[in-house]
Amino acid sequence: MRVAMIGSGYVGLVSGACFADFGHDVVCVDKDAGKIAALEAGRMPIYEPGLADLVAANVAAGRLSFTTDLAAATADADAVFIAVGTPSRRGDGHADLSYVFAAAREIARTVTGYTVVVTKSTVPVGTGDEVERIIREANPQADVSVVSNPEFLREGAAIEDFKRPDRIVIGCGDDDRAKAVMTDLYRPLYLNKAPLLFTGRRSAELLKYAANAFLATKITFINEIADLCERVGADVQEVARGIGLDNRIGPKFLHAGPGYGGSCFPKDTLALLKTAEDYDMPLRIVEATVAVNESRKRAMGRRVIQAMGGEARGKTVAVLGLTFKPNTDDMRDAPSIAIIQALQDAGARIHVYDPVGMEQAKAVLENVDYAPNVYAALEGADAAVIVTEWDAFRALDLDRVKALLREPVFVDLRNIYPKETIERAGLRYTGVGRS
Ligand code: NAD
Repeated sequence: MRVAMIGSGYVGLVSGACFADFGHDVVCVDKDAGKIAALEAGRMPIYEPGLADLVAANVAAGRLSFTTDLAAATADADAVFIAVGTPSRRGDGHADLSYVFAAAREIARTVTGYTVVVTKSTVPVGTGDEVERIIREANPQADVSVVSNPEFLREGAAIEDFKRPDRIVIGCGDDDRAKAVMTDLYRPLYLNKAPLLFTGRRSAELLKYAANAFLATKITFINEIADLCERVGADVQEVARGIGLDNRIGPKFLHAGPGYGGSCFPKDTLALLKTAEDYDMPLRIVEATVAVNESRKRAMGRRVIQAMGGEARGKTVAVLGLTFKPNTDDMRDAPSIAIIQALQDAGARIHVYDPVGMEQAKAVLENVDYAPNVYAALEGADAAVIVTEWDAFRALDLDRVKALLREPVFVDLRNIYPKETIERAGLRYTGVGRS
């Protein structure tokens, strides 16, 4: 099948490359000419494990190409995916749908023959209706079905997630023509036992937000339990393991830490709350999740200051890990941003190191010193703080860490080290949810 992917970011590029790998002919489109030029030159505009090889193999096989020319890509496509960004609208938290609607207007002008227009971007309930209205108004002759196909991949494991999804959600209602095209597109996956879930379009749109809000709530729940553990002399890792072994709960998303961040949970929880507000149907649990998580990030800054004896002015903090999670270069809403801000507000100087996120970080962090490696970041610092659990931080030479630090303060906001290991090296340990 011929596929056009509008938007070649974390979702569009991975989805496009994976569809090509299944054997479809895929053109990835982006309006960012720099991104397309990089892709054409064989350079990846994002860091995602395995992506460069997957892209190269499918380009070489003639199934994957890149362009800024949306019209050329969509003209003969059987399916046109919209995978553009839907960030928080400045000021109010609604999803900014301007990129989605702009793409819909361009698609309307260029489609020929029967085409399924698939919204892969995360969009509020009713967006599919509006996309369909835009296309029909701009081009009454267009023969299109508009389908919602939310994406659940995780950055850092995106290819594996796309190719082995827990489920594929296709919101096409009782539109049999669209159903047939979508079934053909995903055939390699459902032959591989991935459940294909057909739903109404609105259900598909809403369930993506419900999934993210649920996961954000699960993280926030264990973070609050972690705080209680500290007060009562319990260990959150023992508690999490004990509840996670219950099949009804499950072990995932029960790692206490500095609060969730990233390109999806913060904006999607806010957008869901806006939908709830618009429909006069408050979602109190999600409201609490958002509020608790927001205050947690800066509270982590205070935790570091406390570990340094209550004073940050004149001190230097080495922040290890900047991206919102390991194996990605994505800095969008990373907890490191709020933590660093809180420390700077209290007068601390900041050294940072991240294995792949430093270039992206430069666009969002001000007045920090970028170190060329983890040990250079630690030199002369009054505290080492693990913010992102990169594998590269899991086996630090702790004697060297101790020797490089001015003060032996080690704050592990991801609980990747046992307390005893840190203390044996002569460092003072602070974790999360451990008394
Ligand atoms: P991104 O910012 O990495 O990529 C979006 C791309 O779309 C950009 O390269 C931008 O230049 C391009 N674009 C915007 N308007 C365009 C247009 N009219 N024509 C061509 N290109 C255009 O965003 P992303 O992280 O890939 O997210 C895309 C969508 O997928 C969002 O709705 C997001 O919520 C959702 N999503 C993201 C993830 C994730 O892990 N990143 C996971 C699931 C769902």
